[in-house]
Amino acid sequence: MPAVGVVPGAAAPVRACVGLGANLGDPLAQMRAAIDAIARLPATRVSSVSSVYRSAPVGYLDQPDFYNAVVALDTRLPPQALLDALLAIEQDGGRTREFRNAPRLIDLDLLLYGDEVVELPHLTVPHPRLAGRAFVLLPLAEIEPGCVVPGLGPLAALAPAVAGQAIERLGALLVR
Ligand code: ADP
Ligand code: MG
Repeated sequence: MPAVGVVPGAAAPVRACVGLGANLGDPLAQMRAAIDAIARLPATRVSSVSSVYRSAPVGYLDQPDFYNAVVALDTRLPPQALLDALLAIEQDGGRTREFRNAPRLIDLDLLLYGDEVVELPHLTVPHPRLAGRAFVLLPLAEIEPGCVVPGLGPLAALAPAVAGQAIERLGALLVR
């Protein structure tokens, strides 16, 4: 007999990981609001939230430090529906600056969707820039230490490549 609340025949939930980033406004508050919104998505449960990390901007230096974290979800939303929901949360989080290439108050990236490789016109998973970013790999390793990145291998093996990047772990992001 199926467990209560499980629709017979429905796909099993998939463990997906979402990267959060912010460097304008009140970054921690915006990250908390985004996680609250993710937790309200249909067929989705937040399973864990990493610490928050702070890193200096690279490339274009004349902007505030970045705050980043990763959340792990169990979701029955398909990858494109999940991305669309994340982009809607970004919009709700306030794109108040309308000029081109403006920094966003909140950036949500779909890093991993189980062990799936997704190549759609507007969605690539694993996230193409996941491996080169300490601010992704460190929080991800905290909450999914044993994870294997499709096409790249065990997460733990990716860490040495970003060891030179300056990043500070701040602590828990206190979500409700
Ligand atoms: P970045 O996060 O690299 O700074 P943006 O957030 O501006 O860049 O990129 C947004 C676009 O990237 C989205 O409109 C989305 O269609 C596309 N995209 C492709 N793959 C992904 C992914 N795995 N996660 C988030 N956005 C993605
Ligand atoms: Mg993004």
